Amino acid sequence: MTDTIHWEQVVTEAAKILSDYVKIDTTDPPGNEKQSAEFLAGILKKEGFNPEVLSFNDKRANLVCRFRGSSSEKPLLLLSHMDVVGAVAVDWKVAPFSGTIKDGYVWGRGTVDCKGMGTMELMAFILLKRAGVTPKRDIILLANADEEAGGEAGAEWVVRTHWDKVAAGYVLNEGGMGIKGMFGKDIMMPCFGEKGPLWIKLKARGESGHGSMPTAENPNDKLIYALGRIARYQTKIVLLPEVKSVLLEAGKSMKFPVPFLASMFINNLFLNRIRKRLKNIKKVNAILRNTISITNMKSGFKENVIPSESEAILDCRLLPGQDKDAFIDELRQVISDPDIAIETLQFHAPSESSSKDRFMEVIKEVILRNHPGIPFYPILGAGFTDSRFFREKGAIAYGFIPCLFSQEEIDTMHGVNERISLKCLGDGIKNIFDLCRDF
Ligand SMILES: [Zn+2]
Repeated sequence: MTDTIHWEQVVTEAAKILSDYVKIDTTDPPGNEKQSAEFLAGILKKEGFNPEVLSFNDKRANLVCRFRGSSSEKPLLLLSHMDVVGAVAVDWKVAPFSGTIKDGYVWGRGTVDCKGMGTMELMAFILLKRAGVTPKRDIILLANADEEAGGEAGAEWVVRTHWDKVAAGYVLNEGGMGIKGMFGKDIMMPCFGEKGPLWIKLKARGESGHGSMPTAENPNDKLIYALGRIARYQTKIVLLPEVKSVLLEAGKSMKFPVPFLASMFINNLFLNRIRKRLKNIKKVNAILRNTISITNMKSGFKENVIPSESEAILDCRLLPGQDKDAFIDELRQVISDPDIAIETLQFHAPSESSSKDRFMEVIKEVILRNHPGIPFYPILGAGFTDSRFFREKGAIAYGFIPCLFSQEEIDTMHGVNERISLKCLGDGIKNIFDLCRDF
């Protein structure tokens, strides 16, 4: 049945949809996703579906649509988010909300993160119906609001208040992707899990006074000592088996003796010995350990006044399997100053799904059929996505935009000149279509 689909026409159609989708400015905050939800609903209605717009309020909404499968097996949910981060137009080659199609790309804010993925899922969903395919299980399409700002008006709210409409056993979401020319080759890397963000405020209190008469109780001194210890502190390496596999694959593409040395030295013991140096390879470092970034410091208001308090914010990211309270205790020991108060501002537990589930096997089968011989490695994500809300409900959720992005395209995400190639768009639709049909 797939043979009756004209893939070139599909890409043209998808590019037009994505272009129109990008034109709806859903910068979050404020989001304004109601308009985009209605836009997607309109397309689905024309195809004979019954989409539902789940309104959080009069401006923000989520879009859900179900395609009945032939069995009562747990549904597969195709997830994406409609909101985007802001864009400063003067820095761009094209207007960020123009949805320009040129040079083989659709340009604009959200084309990679995450309206491109949303369009792939929408098209695959529509094509199943057009091709007369009845999937083995229900397929649920869900486009959320508010991913970029935490999900309170989006995934968190939908899962909490409309679970009956989105109850799924399996979720395909953003997160991982295929990358061109990584370690000198193309590679597909779906995310099976993601680190948990823990945002912490440190507050030092002391004695205020005149700057001409330094005091032993200056809160700035206390905070600086604490931050100095944190900046020098090396969290321990925890090498997950999936991460090890990717690092060994990376070694393979290099000349002898690198692959041999990689197989000898990529282990917990060795990496812990060189952990101080790992910060220089930040992408690898981020998936090997709990990390701490000092992101904010605030203190004082006048040149000659010692303030009574000063504070700093830490962006910590915890690996799956790590305990928040144990990590805070570790931090407390590193700081070793009872005058520094530690306050948790926000925490989302790290989340993961088994990388060995049958769902991953089917994704791999589809990818290898459509991209013969390509290395396929499940990987941990350093960031966090809406997948966590579904994992908390017991779903197997993977983050995977199933197409090959160039490093350049990836770098435009949350940056300038965001764009997705038509090739990527087409491959993504085909892979998601095959996945929905085969799983
Ligand atoms: Zn995103």
